[in-house]
Amino acid sequence: MNLNFKLSRSNYRNLIVGADTKIPLSNGLYTTAINFDNAASTPPFVSVMEEINHFAGMYSSIHRGTGYKSQLSSKVYEEARSTILKFVNADPFRDTVIFVKNTTEAINKLSYRLWDGNKKSVILSTWMEHHSNDLPWRNKYQVDYVQTDPSGKLSLEDLEVRLAKHKGNVKLVTVTGASNVTGYVNPIHKIAELAHRYNAKILVDGAQLVPHNSINMNPQNSLQSIDYLVFSAHKMYAPFGTGVLIGPEETFNKGISEFVGGGTAETVTHNWVVWEKPPHNEEAGTPNLMGVVALAAAVKTLSGLGMKNVDHYENQLTNYANSKLNSIPGIKVYSHTVHGEPRIGVIPFNIKGIAHEQVAKILSNQAGIAVRTGCFCTQPYIQSLLGISPKQMELYRKRRDIPRPGVVRISFGLYNDFSEIDILIQLLERIAKHPT
Ligand code: PLP
Repeated sequence: MNLNFKLSRSNYRNLIVGADTKIPLSNGLYTTAINFDNAASTPPFVSVMEEINHFAGMYSSIHRGTGYKSQLSSKVYEEARSTILKFVNADPFRDTVIFVKNTTEAINKLSYRLWDGNKKSVILSTWMEHHSNDLPWRNKYQVDYVQTDPSGKLSLEDLEVRLAKHKGNVKLVTVTGASNVTGYVNPIHKIAELAHRYNAKILVDGAQLVPHNSINMNPQNSLQSIDYLVFSAHKMYAPFGTGVLIGPEETFNKGISEFVGGGTAETVTHNWVVWEKPPHNEEAGTPNLMGVVALAAAVKTLSGLGMKNVDHYENQLTNYANSKLNSIPGIKVYSHTVHGEPRIGVIPFNIKGIAHEQVAKILSNQAGIAVRTGCFCTQPYIQSLLGISPKQMELYRKRRDIPRPGVVRISFGLYNDFSEIDILIQLLERIAKHPT
């Protein structure tokens, strides 16, 4: 790629609410905010907010109302499931779309649903997982972790070793589609094939992947299909409070959901209950209609743009930032991809001689740049990337008062500009030259 080629303004910038918001700096002057914290949450699309405003006039309680608005609301809510199924090429005859609060709730729900009382069941998670795709599995199951190599990439060899080691007992391989720390994209279809060869299912944590890459839950080779997929609206240009769990209906149509109440039962007496069919038995209480309307609008906008185009533009941003960061003396970047390797726009780094929190403070105070620092709810992965020993971790366990290790993370959205990266780089060069 020719890195001298620069688009100063993203073609997608006008699609975003508040992309050019002015914010105060520490010197009292105002500047245009630069948001490089999109892996945490993205700002909403204009189309999403317009849809919310438009639909507010039609908004009513769904499923049980007989009025026009109620019927329309029910229809729109159910249609959103089809929009989402299509977006990730789920199987409309096999899969169901369950609306939840976020990725974390989706994984907790699945962990509850998959539990069959068999204490021998093993969940294969990995070293690079967000806590949300690790801790929920620790409640009941034996969990084993697939290792990463020294650069933080998932080891498929180790996956195979562990599948063989626990042969017959691995219920699920649960893996992130893309890392929220290094931006590495995992080969989910290869992983699916390996898992399926060992009679295990696969869950892809799509929180980071779905907003940036196209997803195909059902590729031609059915051995490579994705059994379960979860993601969050607030990372894909829709508001907070809506998440999605997609998986085979049969997973959810026996037993009882962990949350029950209004909407989950078809017939109730004091002595027995006939439960609703999935997905309704999994959505207790009045659902988040406006959140779902917003998510469907975001999905339609992303589909209209084409995920391949989004991925291509974000890759250009990432390559540009990466090459600039790597050329600054004193900066250590913790993710390494060779040309053509898939990745998303997440880059972790540190500057020699200055704490990660301090770097973030300077970026915000002096240039209005928002980043995130620390471990991003992915502590074991950061420990391995930074080479922190178990002995050192014991010290952190005992002492809350000592500063925690971590990194600075920049993460791009489709509306970020090359010129914003230039501002970041200029300031980082200054900090790296005079870190104290
Ligand atoms: N998985 C990954 C890879 C993430 O990056 C995040 C959030 O940062 C989550 C799961 C949790 O998402 P949520 O907070 O929306 O539940």
